[in-house]
Amino acid sequence: MADIEIANPKDDLSQLFFLPKDLPNRPRVFFVGDKKDSSSNVTDSFVGPLEVTSSGVAHGLGVVARRDIQAGECLFVTRAVVSADVKLVFEEWKSRFTDNNATKGDNNIGTPQTLLEEVTEQVLVKAMRQKIQSQDDSDKAIVQSFLLQLSEGEESTARNIPVPTDPSSFVPALVARQSFSSTTAASPLFNIDTDISDTKLLEIIRRNAFGPDFASYQSVEAQWAQSLDDGTERPSPSRLLGLYPLAAMINHSCTPNAVRVFVDGDWMVVHASSNIPKGKEIGWSYLPPILSYPSRKKQLEERHGFVCHCARCINEKEACSTRDIFDLPESLNPFQKSGSILATSGKEARQQLTKDLLAWEERTFAANGLSNETRRYWKMGNASLYIHYLNAVLMDIPQDNPEQAAKTRAICLMKGMDLHFCFVSCHYACTEHLSIMHLCYELVAIMHSRSPDPSKTLPKVQFWTEQLKRAHLIRYGSLGSNVDRIRAVMKHTQVVLRNHNGLDKVPYDFI
Ligand SMILES: [Zn+2]
Repeated sequence: MADIEIANPKDDLSQLFFLPKDLPNRPRVFFVGDKKDSSSNVTDSFVGPLEVTSSGVAHGLGVVARRDIQAGECLFVTRAVVSADVKLVFEEWKSRFTDNNATKGDNNIGTPQTLLEEVTEQVLVKAMRQKIQSQDDSDKAIVQSFLLQLSEGEESTARNIPVPTDPSSFVPALVARQSFSSTTAASPLFNIDTDISDTKLLEIIRRNAFGPDFASYQSVEAQWAQSLDDGTERPSPSRLLGLYPLAAMINHSCTPNAVRVFVDGDWMVVHASSNIPKGKEIGWSYLPPILSYPSRKKQLEERHGFVCHCARCINEKEACSTRDIFDLPESLNPFQKSGSILATSGKEARQQLTKDLLAWEERTFAANGLSNETRRYWKMGNASLYIHYLNAVLMDIPQDNPEQAAKTRAICLMKGMDLHFCFVSCHYACTEHLSIMHLCYELVAIMHSRSPDPSKTLPKVQFWTEQLKRAHLIRYGSLGSNVDRIRAVMKHTQVVLRNHNGLDKVPYDFI
């Protein structure tokens, strides 16, 4: 296939970087090497060495590497071809919310669980409908890009949408870059069916759209409701729901090799999170990486309708079928969920948690024949428990006993290091991993600052600095050699993680 034309082929797109938006003086996304000044915005999509093939792991189609790809390389940058306008969603939601009409229809799986989600979907359907009715060629290319999501199974035959004989021709169409003019050689892939029902459009949304990032409909709704209540303005998310047809072609893997971040509203930036050999399928996780095998299996079946056959699932299925090791003790159940449960637990409950977790770990690892790989997958699937454990131990660090405090930190560092290697083999560039590495870095930094012989602790500080830097570069793209920028991003990740799925914000002394 022909490569997709980009604005300036000489741009070194692997240098793309972004900084989180709550940083002061945040530069906007730009392509390094671009002649425009560094405050310019992203102006065009970019697709790296990828093609769509019909040999996807879980579904009919998948995205594979056209050549060997290095960890950290940019795979693609693309804007939502159509998205739900946040202001429109807010106005619509507000009118229905204040109408005391906040009740919703059914609660079946796959249907909206909140009024906000329902309204967001409706706004997106309207936006899709507008594009369908538009006579503009660029809008037709957009419509084609999202209708291609129906290109599998019965739907494609019924709607005369081609099942691709040469799926690589799909890439330009999926980023809405294929010209729709019937007078040029690049003719449309199919005739657009303007009678397509809202139900079908909703189906595309529910199977393929990308929803809120680092937030949930519940949390946004709660924030908006609070704003209406007390009349103060609160920051809205910059995006809620949008269609990214190329990204939607990427299949699930519990040991992913790609990671996505959203930036400047509805731009999606995707990097390789590990080295990817030519021909290998690109995969990312549809679920939080720190779920256990039984939870992942259940959620993938119920929400996405398939069974995952990735290396991690096959390994854990095998381990589960022969040993009774994955049963979580009752007492640890509440801690499986992320959140600030520790803040409301007393010291006694925290001590019980640490005791129960260690006992369960010991029992599990007493099972014979567990490979290192299985141990790592198992710990990864219980990482939220371990994060609670680390927080619980650090919250109760004995302030008046420096010797004991140092010992406790050393124990936490060992646990953190162990978790780090679990993440390395499963889910390298996820935020939970960054969080664990921050913790290790901070613990080592404290040890270093108090060490009678700093030359002995220096290699540890250097090790964690390098690890953190590498993971940030992979997740967020090349930040170059600007240490201040890297530190700024690291600071952001700490905050995000402590407020969301990672470490709780608690008053212990390790920061
Ligand atoms: Zn899997």
